Amino acid sequence: MSSPFISQQSFFKTNTQYRGRFAPSPSGDLHFGSLVAALGSFLQAKKNDGQWFVRIEDIDKPREQLGAAEQILATLNSFGMHWDTDSLTHSPTDNQRCIVQSQRIERYEHVLEHLITLDRIYACQCTRKQIKQLGDVYTGTCRDLCLPFKGNALRVQLPNVITAFEDVLHGMTHSAHSFAHEDFIVKRKDDLFAYQLVVVVDDIDQGITEVVRGADIMPLTCRQLSLYQLFDVPPPSYLHLPLAVNQSGLKLSKQNHASPINSANPKPELIKAFEFLSLPIHEQLQDLTVDELILWGIKHWDVSRLPKQQEIYVP
Ligand code: GLU
Repeated sequence: MSSPFISQQSFFKTNTQYRGRFAPSPSGDLHFGSLVAALGSFLQAKKNDGQWFVRIEDIDKPREQLGAAEQILATLNSFGMHWDTDSLTHSPTDNQRCIVQSQRIERYEHVLEHLITLDRIYACQCTRKQIKQLGDVYTGTCRDLCLPFKGNALRVQLPNVITAFEDVLHGMTHSAHSFAHEDFIVKRKDDLFAYQLVVVVDDIDQGITEVVRGADIMPLTCRQLSLYQLFDVPPPSYLHLPLAVNQSGLKLSKQNHASPINSANPKPELIKAFEFLSLPIHEQLQDLTVDELILWGIKHWDVSRLPKQQEIYVP
């Protein structure tokens, strides 16, 4: 079976333009933490004269909140962050003009089939509880059991494991050995594809050259890089922005009751996000329109000024 990424390879050879993305999960409205990730990835793409795409990561259907995807897209527009589209990233069936993961199940099945032919996939019946009892690291218990795929989780066995990568902001970043070496789940027992697999398939299919996202995903990056290696596709570069956390050190998220940002009055939140990302804000910015603020942000965006902490408390 030929590589499912062959058509993308010729695109990579001829395309040298920067391509970035923002990939929100529609589990709720945007909050300040996700605004920072959106803004950072947008400014970095535009500063590099690149394109910026939005991808709705709604693969985990049980966690989706009805209407959240539309709400997120409307909020991005009201904050002056308008996303690009092209033939690689936009499917004719999609009216949002951005990639929506739940519309790409066939594509993920195709890639999974490829991994099965490479003999890299096996079924696993271990429960979360059992793995926890064994020290919370899965050590390949089911690897040689030849269990049926149906009704079981599917794990990938990697021939080469990546344990470190060079983050654009944080420099050389190592992953815990046991975590990087774990045969992780690519398709869940409930038949849903796992984030780890689909994020890589989508970033490859969209021709993403640099991933800018929150530092909470930094520990997962090595696993994604191991998949790139397995697919024999050159990986993008990675820049992990500091994570906005609350008083208890928890990521601002819907689960932690972060309040949604107010898209009816975007300027104060936008300026607050500029400040979070160390842009040289000043009083007169209040007088600019949202579009002028965005242009100001692109002009003053500077990766070398970004804070290097992995977490920043936001009052
Ligand atoms: N969908 C993930 C989130 O909302 C982001 C994944 C990524 O940027 O790779 O946290």
